[in-house]
Amino acid sequence: MNKIVHHAWAASHSAELYGVNDWGAGYFGVSPEGDVTVTADGLKGPLSVSLLDIVQEARERGMDTPVLVRFENLLAQQIARLNEAFRGAMKHCGYQGEYRGVFPIKVNQQSHVIEEIAQVGAKYGHGLECGSKPELIIALANLESRDACIVCNGYKDEEFIDLGLQALKMGYRVFFVIETPSELPIILERSRALGISPLIGARVKLSSMVGGHWNASSGDRSIFGLSIAQLITLVDDLKREGMLHCLQLLHYHLGSQIPNIRDIRTGVIEACQVYVDLVREGAAMGYLDLGGGLAVDYDGSKTNYMHSRNYTLDEYCADIVDVVMTTLDPHTIPHPTIITESGRATVAYSSVLVFNVLDVATFEPGPLPEVLDADENQMIHNLGDLFGIANMRNLQECYNDALFYRDELRELFKRGQVNLRSRSLAENLFLKVMHRLLSLAEDAPKGFKEIHKLKEQLSDIYYCNFSLFQSLPDVWAIDQIFPVIPIHRLDENPTRQAIIADITCDCDGKIDKFVDMHSTRRTLPLHPLKEGEEYYIGAFLVGAYQETLGDLHNLFGDTNVVSVRLSEEGGYEFVHEIQGDSIADVLSYVEYHPKEMQDRFRRVAELAVREGRITANERLKVMNAFSASMRGYTYYEK
Ligand SMILES: *Cc1c(COP(=O)(O)O)cnc(C)c1O
Repeated sequence: MNKIVHHAWAASHSAELYGVNDWGAGYFGVSPEGDVTVTADGLKGPLSVSLLDIVQEARERGMDTPVLVRFENLLAQQIARLNEAFRGAMKHCGYQGEYRGVFPIKVNQQSHVIEEIAQVGAKYGHGLECGSKPELIIALANLESRDACIVCNGYKDEEFIDLGLQALKMGYRVFFVIETPSELPIILERSRALGISPLIGARVKLSSMVGGHWNASSGDRSIFGLSIAQLITLVDDLKREGMLHCLQLLHYHLGSQIPNIRDIRTGVIEACQVYVDLVREGAAMGYLDLGGGLAVDYDGSKTNYMHSRNYTLDEYCADIVDVVMTTLDPHTIPHPTIITESGRATVAYSSVLVFNVLDVATFEPGPLPEVLDADENQMIHNLGDLFGIANMRNLQECYNDALFYRDELRELFKRGQVNLRSRSLAENLFLKVMHRLLSLAEDAPKGFKEIHKLKEQLSDIYYCNFSLFQSLPDVWAIDQIFPVIPIHRLDENPTRQAIIADITCDCDGKIDKFVDMHSTRRTLPLHPLKEGEEYYIGAFLVGAYQETLGDLHNLFGDTNVVSVRLSEEGGYEFVHEIQGDSIADVLSYVEYHPKEMQDRFRRVAELAVREGRITANERLKVMNAFSASMRGYTYYEK
């Protein structure tokens, strides 16, 4: 008779387990067939595709994993959401000014990203923020909308200022934001020399502090911006020069990823008070630039936890507009154009890194004999007995004993008193006992505090084809958590618990903290590998900061990138394909000359022929292999 299978696993269980609907922001979901889906607004309704289909099709085009998939629609939609949310809030409150977003180029400088932002943003007058000369050049070459602002932060030398002034004359709205007092004399001197009146902004240090990882960007000791005393000096200097009308913008930036809406409000309140007094001092003003900080809910918990945020985009906009109005209205000061420099929230969603699993290490016991040999060491017999002794009530005791017996045996081995086979037997018995304890503990989790440690100790290691240092540097550098989940087979129960290791030879090259609603999870549920079938994992929300902060550790280079656009007719098109670095590319980054290397290797091969080690034909083969490697991908290829 057929048994009815209860609790069959459905894709919806995976969606819940991995929190997809919590962090996915409506962009990512799970199909009933078990694939991760990507959804964007279309003209006639939502457009949706399977991420696996895209990855498989990219492979057929020679764009193998690891591959970074960019979704142009998601970037466009985030720009639209941000602008529409501010417009909505302003309309609702009767705000008289406008909103002008600027995208900080440092958050993702890739040309296709900036082009898309400039193109989609044109309709909203969305501009760019630059912090260096190359970024100013990017801004000038990409922004066609004269409505859009270009906000220049960072250190500005004469060359930077000359270029900005000339662009201003051409009609670009370029603001020089004064970060240090020493910048003003150069700006004044160059504008006199060129006969162009500058648009000046002042960046202030607010005393308001924020929570989250970047709180060092706020407060008195932040490295950027003018103190209030320096701001007053700036006003006096401009007054004396008869140029106070040039001071039109007030800027501050409290740090990225501000999880708590209260901190955002506090910052705006303080900035508005500064703004009021600048107007009273006689500055022209008109622009209030609140910097970045709009957070991304990476873990989907909607809390003020570091990787989350306790507010929605609409609440963020409504709060800002409300605070600006309630602070300025009593002084009858015209509503300024509000600028924000949201980077992270604009681009994070649009990129997914997909990699394949190469291998799995499990911590299961190897084969064990039916009965233990009576001659075996007493510690081994003790370990063997523990298996039968363990029950729900003595978990901690058995756990301590097992560790003790195993360590004793390891000591005996070091002293040469037991041999390698006995040690192997002991290690296997130990694992068998540990698995028994874990399965008991899962039914009685309260009685055993170290269950989490045990779970971690017994979890699998999934070796994956990517470099953390190249593609997810913030995981290593600042313990950033990104949602990481399999992109297919989600209609199957993920029965393994695992951590993820990359293919660099570095013990830091691992992911062992994962998204969880309540706290961070130390292991990730994954599926056992299937013979002859690839298993793909995606790291989501990686569009901000990861691409250029990454480095060449172990000489793993840039991954392949595909830009995809979901089309109105259904399906998707590959808009851009960018081949990742070849081995020759990464070698030349570190000053090798691939051609010279080949010549040198050829000489060694020639010598080997002369010495009779290889034939001339074998020489040809090895030379071909050498040059094929040079042209190849730096990652594991099948
Ligand atoms: C980095 C930076 C931003 C971007 O912040 P997000 O939190 O990514 O939006 C904005 N403004 C300035 C001055 C920055 O340095």
